[in-house]
Amino acid sequence: MTTKTEKGTGRGDKAPDLVVVAALKSWACAECSGTGSLLTMDDAGPLCLSCADLDHLVYLPAGDAALTRRAKKASGLTAVVVRFSRARRRYERQGILVEADALDQAERACLADEASRERRRLRERERRAEGDTRLRVRATTEILRHYPSCPQDRAEEIARHAFARGSGRIGRSAAGRDLDPTALDLAVTAAVRHVDTPYDELMMNGVGRLEARARVRPEVEQVIARWREPSARAG
Ligand SMILES: [Zn+2]
Repeated sequence: MTTKTEKGTGRGDKAPDLVVVAALKSWACAECSGTGSLLTMDDAGPLCLSCADLDHLVYLPAGDAALTRRAKKASGLTAVVVRFSRARRRYERQGILVEADALDQAERACLADEASRERRRLRERERRAEGDTRLRVRATTEILRHYPSCPQDRAEEIARHAFARGSGRIGRSAAGRDLDPTALDLAVTAAVRHVDTPYDELMMNGVGRLEARARVRPEVEQVIARWREPSARAG
């Protein structure tokens, strides 16, 4: 009776596993003269699974560690199935025999695990997407509040670009999370510089960053001043 509890520990002086051997050649049961694909070795000779009282067990091939662990745990009686490898000259583990109910139970548990993991993944993805959308809408609104004459699509584009998750841009800095006005201003200025001035072109032509910034500064300031004007749209 102690065998079962000790089995669960996976170490120590537990009883050896029951071993069932996959037959490689024809054989006859020492008790009933029957045969089969699996046999056990008894003092009297090979026994078929019926005579060995193991024929109520079902075979679970190795390969799914979680399923095997669960099935073994749920099964009152288990046996290891081995097969002799002529090439390697040793017995190799093929799988286990477990009670059918235990295998059912283990399969259900594994499926439930998988389903709940999948549901959790979906929930997390939705939450992230919602958070991103909320943040972008909020950022767009804030940009339009500070720059009432900024075109709507430009505000949306700036918000999308600067406040994208994982972009590592200013919008996601500590200040960006609560939409610090400075972060907004920086995002707007950067967007104007790249889109409304030849800044990128200057950079591509080898003009240094600071020099290029200095050259386009008047244009940037002009656009920003225009965007800051009260909007006709707001009415
Ligand atoms: Zn037999």
